[in-house]
Parts: sequence; C-alpha cells; structure tokens
Amino acid sequence: IAKADGRHTYRFYTATLNQQLLEQFQVEQALRLAIERQELVLYYQPRVNIATGAILSLEALVRWNHPEWGLVQPGRFIPIAEATGLILQIGPLVLRQACEQIKLWRAEGVPVVPVAVNLSANELYQDNLAQRIQTIVHDTGVTPADLEFEVTESAAMHSIEKAVMILSALREQGFSLSLDDFGTGYASLSYLNRLPVQALKIDRSFLAEINSAEDALTQSVTIVKAIIGLGANLGLHIIAEGVETKEQRDFLINHHCFVAQGYLFAKPLPVDVITPLLRTGNVL
Ligand code: C2E
Ligand code: MG
Ligand code: MG
Ligand code: MG
Repeated sequence: IAKADGRHTYRFYTATLNQQLLEQFQVEQALRLAIERQELVLYYQPRVNIATGAILSLEALVRWNHPEWGLVQPGRFIPIAEATGLILQIGPLVLRQACEQIKLWRAEGVPVVPVAVNLSANELYQDNLAQRIQTIVHDTGVTPADLEFEVTESAAMHSIEKAVMILSALREQGFSLSLDDFGTGYASLSYLNRLPVQALKIDRSFLAEINSAEDALTQSVTIVKAIIGLGANLGLHIIAEGVETKEQRDFLINHHCFVAQGYLFAKPLPVDVITPLLRTGNVL
C-alpha cells in the first residue's frame, strides 16, 4: 500500500505501471486472506437531523483491520476489490455483518435505526442480486425496512435500463434506496424519475466548497441548491454528505436541507462507540 499520508511522499511518489500492478497484486492477495480471517469490520456513521442532532439512520462503512498495517480505509482497498472481482465476496460479508449487528442491537434493546449498505456497480449488475440479498436478510432475521442500499449515480447510469429493473426488484422487496455521490455523475432527469430511489446523497465535494458567505456564488453552491430543489420537486429525501463546519450546516438549514452526515456530527464509528449513541438517539 502506497504511503499517501505524508504530503511529500504522496506528491513525489510516481509509481511505474509495474509498481502499481505489483501493489495491486499484493493487496489482492492480502485481501483474500483478510476475507478468510474475517479482518473486515464495519464502522457506522450517523445520518442526523441537523437541527436537532437526532440519529435518523446509519451508513455502514467497511474497514480492514490488518494485523500489520492497522486499520485500512476503504479508499485503499475497495477499488482493488472492484477491479479484481473480490467485491463480490466482500459485499455479502458486509451485508451479513450489518444484519447481524442489527439483530444484536435489537436483542440488547438498543433502539434500531435503518442501516444503509453500499453496493458497488459489480454487485448491482451481478445476477440474482435481489435473491442473494433476500437470503442474507432471511438468514439473519432482519426485515427490509431495517436496510437501505446506496448505489452511486454513476453505477446506476452505467446500464440504466438494467439498473431500473434491479432497483425496482429491491424496492418491491421493501428496501429503501439512495443515489450516492449525487451530482458527480450524469443522471438525466428523465432517468432520475424512473429510478425507484427515495433519497439523493449530495456528494461531499460540493459541500467542501461551502465555507463562508463569500463563496455564495460558487458553482458548488448553485449545484447544492439545484439538488435540494430537485429533491423537493421529485419528492426525494436529500442527504448532505461531508458536513464538517457550522457554516455548511447553516447553509443547508437556510436552504431547507435537514439531513446530513459528516464529521461535524460524527465520524464513522466502531460498534462499541456507536451503540451508546444509539441508546441516547442523538449526537449532540
Ligand atoms: P461513500 O459511500 O460515499 O461514503 C462516504 C464517505 O465519506 C466515507 O468514507 C465517510 O467516512 C466519508 N465522510 C463522511 N463525512 C465526512 C466528512 O465530514 N468529511 C470527510 N472528509 N469525509 C467524510 P470512507 O468510509 O472512507 O468510504 C469511502 C468509500 O468507500 C465510500 O464512499 C464507498 O464508496 C466505499 N465503501 C465503503 N464501505 C463500503 C462497502 O461496504 N461496500 C462498498 N461497495 N463500498 C464501500
Ligand atoms: Mg455511501
Ligand atoms: Mg457518497
Ligand atoms: Mg463516495
């Protein structure tokens, strides 16, 4: 794994194609072991009512607890898992872990909120996805209302006709659906109308540029406002991703967007930290 943390290391690191392939191969091999050794763990990030801090739902985000490398972030291994097809093994493990956690919380009397699980494009277009999901949900004894699936706008648009069919099947089973990283892809309005999703998640790159009133004219502000308006007109929930500052929060409140996830409220948290928060129901 390349050291992307040190600014200078990152800046001057120019891997040759061979180095990149070697690294990818090493991560792939290690990832195969990680799956066997059950080193993949879920963290949970709250989505909150930004006015009250009430926890409305959670997003499950996978981390890799490597014995030597420590906690590896998904940006370092999910793209490789997607490129190598390993995501088709990781996806079901993630979903099962989320379902089992929901079941455990329920058994412990913890107030359960819906948990959103990310689906990669490879998973979305895999045969029998709906049945595979149904099996896991059935095995673990949770209900579709406990779960939401996030697919990126780009993944959904990749084969839009198929995506409409697959997502409709999931929706009919009772799962909630959201379009992730919205605004970075190229969803046409006509297709957006046909996708049976309930929520749009504003990509955090847009929020990142809203930091003060002076920025009120930037393109990002225009885009965020447009997405919020789109949501209102199409009857979709809007979730703002990557809210880090009070200025961003106030901007969202002023523009009638009341649901967000971001470091201002809480980072993705391990089970032992998120559980007490769920008991209080609030991040503030
Ligand atoms: P995503 O689904 O768009 O998840 C949101 C990402 O934004 C998470 O990064 C989260 O930690 C980060 N984030 C949330 N709030 C803030 C904030 O205020 N500031 C900043 N700087 N970041 C914030 P994370 O956990 O590193 O995950 C990155 C991506 O990896 C995810 O993006 C998703 O595409 C993928 N991923 C993570 N877990 C899974 C999984 O179980 N399955 C699949 N297929 N993909 C996953
Ligand atoms: Mg997501
Ligand atoms: Mg996102
Ligand atoms: Mg993303």
